[in-house]
Amino acid sequence: MRVIRGDRSLPAPFDHPHAALVLRPWDTSRPAVTAQVTVTAPLAALRPAGWAAPSIGAEPPTLDGEPITAAHLRELLGRLDALGVQAPPGGGLAVAITGDDGALLAAVTVTELRRIAARGCVVHGRGADCGCALVGRPPAMPGYHRSTAQERFLRLRDRTCRHPGCSRSAGRADADHVVPYDCGGRTSCENLCCLCRTHHRLKTFARGWRFELLPNGTLLVTTPSGVTRTTRPPGLRDVRTQPALPPPPRPPDEAPPF
Ligand SMILES: [Zn+2]
Ligand SMILES: [Zn+2]
Repeated sequence: MRVIRGDRSLPAPFDHPHAALVLRPWDTSRPAVTAQVTVTAPLAALRPAGWAAPSIGAEPPTLDGEPITAAHLRELLGRLDALGVQAPPGGGLAVAITGDDGALLAAVTVTELRRIAARGCVVHGRGADCGCALVGRPPAMPGYHRSTAQERFLRLRDRTCRHPGCSRSAGRADADHVVPYDCGGRTSCENLCCLCRTHHRLKTFARGWRFELLPNGTLLVTTPSGVTRTTRPPGLRDVRTQPALPPPPRPPDEAPPF
């Protein structure tokens, strides 16, 4: 595989890196590409035998509701090994673990995953099936700057700029403190979201706009005229407010005459 960078000397659509990769695969004049592969693993698919489902009518699990335990990690690594999933040459392999509502619970490289699984629980020791959480959302940082783990988590959670209607890639977006750091906002995944430079500037400098980030990553943006629009991280479902599907229409007793 080759890396294809945007080339302004070429006419559209060849000036876009992805278009050039598809349309000019013979072009070997550019440096080699590195690919970052992410495997998404729903936690429900990794539940160890004997896991008890919550009773009907129970509250849906919260972001911190079900810990990702050593048993989950063993199951996950076993499946990756069975499938032979490996990092591409020169690239990286990460795993995104999602909850029942599609929320991103953890984003870790497979190398980290193996290290954590080998280490086991820091409290109860290696090999203990204690049910403690071994991975989860990256912890908040004490200063202004985010950690590499937070960066990975945010890019995988948001995928694009989170401003309503914007689809610019999160890979080129800024990680914005929704409550500004100078105003007491923490450097935590609960207070950081991806905004492209245009919408980052809008939020920082335009008057009358309000931004609120909920713990599950839902962003509420209120315009100066008071209209609030909501964006959710891709994959996140609102299991509390999703309306029940209407029953399918009954077939007519008799076929209509033609
Ligand atoms: Zn433990
Ligand atoms: Zn944007």
